[in-house]
Amino acid sequence: MLVHFPTPYPDELLYSLFARYHKNAGTLSPKQTIKELFGTITNRAVVDLQGNIGTLTQRLKTSKISSQEVIENHTLYPIYRPFIPPDRSNDIIKSMIQNNGGSIHTRTGISASNIKPFNYLRYCPSCCEDDFDKYGETYWHRIHQVPGVLVCPIHSVPIRNSSALIKHANQHEFIIANKITCSNNAERILPLELIKPLFELAKILQWILNNNLRPRSLNFYRTHYIERLKERGLATYSNRIRKKEWYSSFQGRFNAEFLEMIQSEVNIKEDCDWLTMIMQKHRRSFHPVRHALIMLYFSEPAECFFDRPIKHLPFGEGPWRCLNKICTEYNQNVIKNESITYCNETKRPVGTFCCNYCGFIYSRRGPDRQSSDSFKIGRVKEFGFLFDQKLRELTGEGNSLRYIASKLAVDPMTVKRRALMLDLNFSWEGEKKEEALKKECYSFSSVEEQDNLSSYKNKHRTVWTELQLEFADYSKTQLRSLRPDTFIWLYRNDENWLKDNSPKKVRKAPSNKRVDWELRDKEILHQAQYLIKNWDKSNQKPTRRTITSIARLLNKTTMLSTYEDKLPLTMSYLHKEVETLEDFQIKRVQWVIKELKKNNEEVREWKVYRKAGLRKSVAKRVQNAISEAVYIYELDEKEHL
Ligand SMILES: [Zn+2]
Ligand SMILES: [Zn+2]
Repeated sequence: MLVHFPTPYPDELLYSLFARYHKNAGTLSPKQTIKELFGTITNRAVVDLQGNIGTLTQRLKTSKISSQEVIENHTLYPIYRPFIPPDRSNDIIKSMIQNNGGSIHTRTGISASNIKPFNYLRYCPSCCEDDFDKYGETYWHRIHQVPGVLVCPIHSVPIRNSSALIKHANQHEFIIANKITCSNNAERILPLELIKPLFELAKILQWILNNNLRPRSLNFYRTHYIERLKERGLATYSNRIRKKEWYSSFQGRFNAEFLEMIQSEVNIKEDCDWLTMIMQKHRRSFHPVRHALIMLYFSEPAECFFDRPIKHLPFGEGPWRCLNKICTEYNQNVIKNESITYCNETKRPVGTFCCNYCGFIYSRRGPDRQSSDSFKIGRVKEFGFLFDQKLRELTGEGNSLRYIASKLAVDPMTVKRRALMLDLNFSWEGEKKEEALKKECYSFSSVEEQDNLSSYKNKHRTVWTELQLEFADYSKTQLRSLRPDTFIWLYRNDENWLKDNSPKKVRKAPSNKRVDWELRDKEILHQAQYLIKNWDKSNQKPTRRTITSIARLLNKTTMLSTYEDKLPLTMSYLHKEVETLEDFQIKRVQWVIKELKKNNEEVREWKVYRKAGLRKSVAKRVQNAISEAVYIYELDEKEHL
């Protein structure tokens, strides 16, 4: 029986637990460790899809972790499962629990895909640092081993190869993650154009890995994809892919270098190209990276591909708005029935919407691609009884054309045409009736998009502008390190503005001038103060303030470690602001409690320990802080009863 098996860290790879067990046991040879874990030396420990998990969990009698939990939280299986049909998935789970797992890879379809696995175990340097802050050690994270995840989905930095060869790990070697195996400094620096899509792709894969998704038939996703291609005019309504347009749109979205990095180059001339095949009825499964890439192409959150009803509704689910401004139900979703016809030339759907409150009928060519489309009028088919009645009244009263137009919320020409059609008497000058009727063009002003995009835009633009006023001689990179959230938002949503409103690159002339340390000290101090003032503003979780972490964010790691004595103001300020491990643990505890309350969960001591990743043996001061906080919470609760 295994007594000292380590407690798993979040997202820890099963192999990592084996390696930690092996290290803690100290004197065992790898073979002996295998025997301890599985009861026999014929077993193997593997990095991605482990076999015989059932034997292992039975031997872990003290900790009650089930085989299902191990598979779900500590192996790479969940990333493959949603793309495997249900019956095959059950077989695979059975063999991960019962057999030694020899044929698992073949049955997942991984072996048949062209995505090559990594040769080394991988790590993110920032996660590593966080682990040391939080736990005093690091471990192999599952997400970093997923093929296609090249950038950390938390830190957005490139994931690196460790020195641990997977080939060795799979052959009876237990290699732990530590400062020696994870100390690769030779990684290339990626340009932002590559980081951005790699980060987004990693986010999708992380979501798939962590959301307990069920297996699906091989053609499940294809149906999703084709409906979306239709919306974009890249497939016909009879499900035929417009291949040339599809490839050119895909290649316009992702550049060749990016596709090569994730082993998913495309080639339109190749009949069996994956980008063609994944849209056809097929009998084979595709690697999760390829699916994630298609999902990324459509720029929708991953969950949309697993939940959204498949039926294609070009104008959404309804009811739809009345867009006649003088209607009592204006801008309300009161139209219950829409009729859809298809345009003969373009084959695009045309929706016709009729309001029962005012008789107004309008149509619009679909599909609606964004929420603002639901405010659009394509053609006015009927003005409706309300409009005509108001027009008669206003004309009869002898009002001016402009006045009537403003009352009816249309342009003057539309008023005139309608009046002609109704044979009304009026004194305005104007077009002949025949000509006016021929044009058949009416303008109803449409509503602005009621979206908060513009308010975000204003907010981030202001932050970015003010930042430049405050730090006038800073480069774009330095500004970015001060407010990464604002930078990323603008980069994604307002790229051109950002380009035009950032400091231009200045080529520094080499100078022999002596450094004015006093001035530099003041500058860095100023920068550091700003950073501390906004600490954790753009992070979900609190992070620890250490000299290293501050220096990294200021982009001044070398300067602060080499010229410490020349920067007295900065250094004394920083020493005042850094947090001890205990300070940080307490900050984390407070954050955990806030989160629990926010989610309406009970605040209990054991929960706080677990969520804050703390052991019972943590410093007395932290223990006290926890008891105190929980005590206060309980008092509050009693008061509310
Ligand atoms: Zn990371
Ligand atoms: Zn209406």
